[in-house]
Amino acid sequence: MRITKSNQVYQLTYLPHIFPVNCYLVEEEDGLTLVDAALPNNAEAIIKAAEDIGKPIVRIVLTHAHSDHIGALDSLKARLPDVKVYISARDSRLLAGDAALEPGESQLPVKGGVPKPGAIKTMPDVLLQEGDRIGSLLAISTPGHTPGSMSFLDTRSQTLIAGDALQLRGGIAVSGQLKPWFPFPALATWNKQASLESARKLQAYKPAVLAVGHGNMLQQPGAALAKAIAEAERKLK
Ligand SMILES: [Zn+2]
Repeated sequence: MRITKSNQVYQLTYLPHIFPVNCYLVEEEDGLTLVDAALPNNAEAIIKAAEDIGKPIVRIVLTHAHSDHIGALDSLKARLPDVKVYISARDSRLLAGDAALEPGESQLPVKGGVPKPGAIKTMPDVLLQEGDRIGSLLAISTPGHTPGSMSFLDTRSQTLIAGDALQLRGGIAVSGQLKPWFPFPALATWNKQASLESARKLQAYKPAVLAVGHGNMLQQPGAALAKAIAEAERKLK
């Protein structure tokens, strides 16, 4: 996997030139927080990256429960039985293979690669809510791509790890806005209107670095983010 560093955040990218899938190692005093778990065959490379950094992975935080973000979860948990696993309470149901909607939610189908019931053996240890802290990370609820998508702001550097709430590969876009050169995040999006509201919420945090599930990290993303939000507003009118 290709490794790129910005402040205390390491971006690990599988297939950077073909179909880039990112996960992140966030350096903390007590070890590393892995944000997302990429694809099933990435476990070894993720562990190797942590060894090269020289700290153990002590927790795994998931932005959402799509297959390209949880793929290596079970093999990592088998190799690192003491790590604690965190996911939003809402997407923990998707992780367990239950894609049913809840009362009060937009009755749009959940899209993308949701695991079959029982396919993922790992049970989360912590069900996250808006405002929770995981080391230096602040949990921000950003529904839209999935009903329980979460983003994580490293408050030391204002680096925002947004999962698929936004994409950067193929051009910056709010989740649900189709970019022909990399249409996959848009095709896997549950609720475009909610995605737009979540993007506005993230913009208000004024991130200094934007780090997402697909695409290279972007420094000083303010202007690009504003443009992506304006584009989504136009399309959703
Ligand atoms: Zn993804």
